[in-house]
Amino acid sequence: MVKEDNLPAGKAGNNLMDKVISLCKRRGFVFPGSEIYGGLANSWDYGPLGVELKNNIKNLWWKRFVHNRDDMVGIDAALIMNPKVWEASGHLKNFSDPLVECKKCHHRFREDTLESKKCPDCGAELTQAKQFNLMLKTFLGPVEDVENTVYFRPETAQAMFADFKNVVDTSRKRVPFGIVQIGKAFRNEITPGNFIFRTREFEQMEIEYFIMEKNWKESFEMWRKEMWSWMKEDLGLDEKNIHENEIDESERAFYSKKTIDFEYDYPFGRKELYGLAYRTDFDLKNHFKEAPYEDVETKEKFYPHVIEPTFGVDRSFLAVLLDAYKEEGERVVLKFKPSLASYKVAVFPLLKNKPELVEKAREVYNILKKEFNVVFDDRGNIGKRYYSQDEIGTPFCVTIDFDSLKNDDVTIRDRDTMEQKRIKISDLISVIYDKINV
Ligand code: ATP
Repeated sequence: MVKEDNLPAGKAGNNLMDKVISLCKRRGFVFPGSEIYGGLANSWDYGPLGVELKNNIKNLWWKRFVHNRDDMVGIDAALIMNPKVWEASGHLKNFSDPLVECKKCHHRFREDTLESKKCPDCGAELTQAKQFNLMLKTFLGPVEDVENTVYFRPETAQAMFADFKNVVDTSRKRVPFGIVQIGKAFRNEITPGNFIFRTREFEQMEIEYFIMEKNWKESFEMWRKEMWSWMKEDLGLDEKNIHENEIDESERAFYSKKTIDFEYDYPFGRKELYGLAYRTDFDLKNHFKEAPYEDVETKEKFYPHVIEPTFGVDRSFLAVLLDAYKEEGERVVLKFKPSLASYKVAVFPLLKNKPELVEKAREVYNILKKEFNVVFDDRGNIGKRYYSQDEIGTPFCVTIDFDSLKNDDVTIRDRDTMEQKRIKISDLISVIYDKINV
C-alpha cells in the first residue's frame, strides 16, 4: 500500500480535494503549470485570484512577525548561493530521502512513505533503498562542469545564517532577535503530489530566532504559541483540524534537538503544515570560524542558538481553501477571513441597461478601488453575481439601485450571513475596514 501522500490528487479520501482543485482552475486561483504543452509534472501556476490570496497570506505573516514586533528584521537573499553554504550546512551530504525502485515496472518511491516492501503499483519486489539527494542542481555560466555547479536553495533558512553578521552589524538587533525571509525553495522530491501540497518548487516563510542557549525551552514555547495564534487568528483555521506532532529523535533532522510538526487534516490524510525546530548553534558554528556575536554588556563572544518556526506558503494556501470551502444548499462559498479574500468588495449596478445606475456604480467602484482590491460586475442577474462572488470568497457585495441615485446610499451584502444593509456611500470605506479588521 502506498500511503495517501503518494496518491494523485482526487483519488484521496473524499472528493473535497477534487472540488477545491476544480474551483481553483475554474475561477483562476491555481492552474496546472505549462498546461498548453501538456503540463510539467506537479508544477502549478497561481492565477489572478490565487496570487492575491497568496500575497495576502504573505503580507499578513510579514505584518505579524516583522512589523508588529521589535525583535525581528527581514531579508531577501539570492536564491542561488555559493555551494560552500550547502557544504557547510550539511545539505550536500545529508539532505536526502530513501529512494526505492520497483524491479519490474521501475516506478520509484520514497521508502519512508510505503507500508509494505512490495511495489504499490504492481506488487513486485523493490530494490534496496538508496539515499537520494534532494538538492536541485544547475550551472552558472556557459561551462557545465563541477566548478560551475550550483544549487537552488532547498530552504530559505541558510541565508539568515550566512547573512547573520551583516544583519547584526547593520541592524543593531541584540539577542534575542530574529531574521526572517519569504521566498522560493526547491527540492527534487521523489514523489511530489496532492496538488500544491508537495511540489518541487514552493515557497517558504521562515524565521530564525537567535537566543542564548539557556533560554531555548522558553523561546521554543513562545514560538509554539505564536504559531498557533497565526494559524487561528490570521489564517482563521479551525483548531480541530490542526495537531501537534513531536518528532522522535530518530526521525528528526540531523541538526535538531527538538522538533514539533504542526499537522493539518488534509482530505488525503494528516500531514505536515508547518514545523518548529530547535536547531541549536549547528548552523552558525558551521558557517563562522569565529563566534559571530558579541554581547554588548559582557563583551563575551559566542554562537547564538536558534529556534526555527517554518511555514510553507503553498500549504497555508491549501489549508485555508480546504477549511473555507462550504456548500450551503445551492451555493458554494469560501468562508475565509475577509483579510485573506482576493477581492474585498464586488460592486454591482442593479441593472446593466440603466446608464444612470451603471454610472453611479462606477463612481462607487472608483472610490473603493483606492482602498481595496475591488471587482465590478454587471453580468446576469444579482443572484448569479452573488453566487459568483461567494464562490471566490468575496466578503462584501455592494449594489447600486434606484434609491442610491436619490439617497447616495447602497446595499451591502455580507457573504456569510447573506444579510443586506443600507448604508451611506460616504460611510462605505470605514464600514468595510471595520469588518475586515474584525
Ligand atoms: P515533509 O516532511 O512534508 O517532506 P519537511 O519536514 O521536509 O516536509 P521542512 O524541511 O520542515 O519540511 O520545510 C518547512 C516547510 O516547508 C514545511 O513545513 C512545508 O510547509 C514546506 N514544504 C516543505 N517541502 C515542501 C514541498 N515539497 N512542497 C510544498 N511545501 C513544502
